[in-house]
Amino acid sequence: MTTTHETSHPTDPRPAVRCGIVPPYLLQALASSGEPHLEERARETLRLDQLRYEEHAREHSLRPDGARVSRRANRATTEAPNRVVHDAGGGTTLPGEKVRAEGEPATDDTAVNEAYDGLGATWDLWNAAYGRNSLDDRGLGLVATVHYGTNYDNAFWDGSQMVFGDGDGVVLLGFTRSLDVIGHELAHGVTQYTSGLVYQDQAGALNEHVSDVFGILVKQRALGQSAEESDWLIGAELLGPDVKGVALRSMKEPGTAYDDPRLGKDPQPGHMRDFVDTDDDNGGVHINSGIPNRAFHLVATTLGGNAWERAGAIWYAVITGDIKADCDFATFAALTEAAAVAAHGEDSEEARAVRDAWAQVGVTNETGGAAGGGSEREPAPAPAPTPSPEPEPSPVPAGGEPGLVQVRRTGGFAGQVRERTVRLDELPDDDATAWRTLLASPTLMALAQGRMIPDAFRYGVSCDVPPVDVTIPEPALPEGVRELFDRTLEA
Ligand SMILES: [Zn+2]
Repeated sequence: MTTTHETSHPTDPRPAVRCGIVPPYLLQALASSGEPHLEERARETLRLDQLRYEEHAREHSLRPDGARVSRRANRATTEAPNRVVHDAGGGTTLPGEKVRAEGEPATDDTAVNEAYDGLGATWDLWNAAYGRNSLDDRGLGLVATVHYGTNYDNAFWDGSQMVFGDGDGVVLLGFTRSLDVIGHELAHGVTQYTSGLVYQDQAGALNEHVSDVFGILVKQRALGQSAEESDWLIGAELLGPDVKGVALRSMKEPGTAYDDPRLGKDPQPGHMRDFVDTDDDNGGVHINSGIPNRAFHLVATTLGGNAWERAGAIWYAVITGDIKADCDFATFAALTEAAAVAAHGEDSEEARAVRDAWAQVGVTNETGGAAGGGSEREPAPAPAPTPSPEPEPSPVPAGGEPGLVQVRRTGGFAGQVRERTVRLDELPDDDATAWRTLLASPTLMALAQGRMIPDAFRYGVSCDVPPVDVTIPEPALPEGVRELFDRTLEA
């Protein structure tokens, strides 16, 4: 055992995914909301997200298959939180200036104190309720950065630390305001160290679900709320005062969290019959998580009392048990039932509550998994194995118009598909020249050989003359090329 990493940036042991609390479909909606202030802020957030993810992908050898890699040996000698909060001062350099370490008094910066307290409440839940010593059960230090970017509309776990933006101040407020959001992001860290759920399709929706579950449990425990008393809302404190909605997600009633001209309507389903079959958002990970979220809410409220003690303990047993990284809904449901039976018996109140809840959301062995029903869908695209050196045939019939290029962006957390077909001579001269150079060179094909990375945007470029049809994972894109794609999409 020679894992000794003593860098200022903790080394993560698992394939990390960048996990922003605001899915791209919301950011995209803001970016085209017709309000210049919001549009500018949302675009800036999307841009910074992309930069962050590229940087992260370079720093951490992300593995697309979710395979486990060895954990570092840094177990603390005593079990207590070890928090450090930094201030990025509106910049994007992480971790930023250290402003409050463990045991230090509160500062006059609300965001700093909210982050510090939220990290503490999260550590407390995992430790007091489940005997877990931090995210990795080895006393991992909890690192957070506040005031990241300018009016940054997001918060995320980058595989090593928490990052909080201040929001645009109109639709979305400061991201340290919601305790469940802090708990959600840190739970991605726990998943990283435990189940390693792949951030794609049903496993990805379960990854999101697990974060919502333990995020809401952090809030409930900190507030002393029983299952009945909780609002079961994720991100309620983030919405600006005139936003038509109550939160970013509702675990109780998925699909009802907001309906706002700038945000669109909450797209979450609460039943398997409404499962959203999409290639976007890594297979709708932020959308379909509504289905298991509602199941958890049903279990928790059926059992009553403190959800972290009853329903939460069953879920904790599952994520730390014999769960596979590519687990689907039906398998997860079966694992929760098995955990309830193991702890409480076949005919226990717990086992019945779990069985009933999954049945109510339409997840059964017959319909919830790969066997069929609403969840059956094409397998995810293979992680760009060994691409052919030859260009793939273009779907556009031969003889098409020279200089006509289609750019399509999918992926991201839940990103809307953005697509545009342009004539190059409609573009500014510099961009048209850049496109002609790019299309004529082997660059695009080379870039298309980059690995598929969970959570990354994917840019598709197709052109008839010359024949080009490629899909490129965003982290593989040089900044200049990505900016050209984005300008073209927005032109
Ligand atoms: Zn998440």
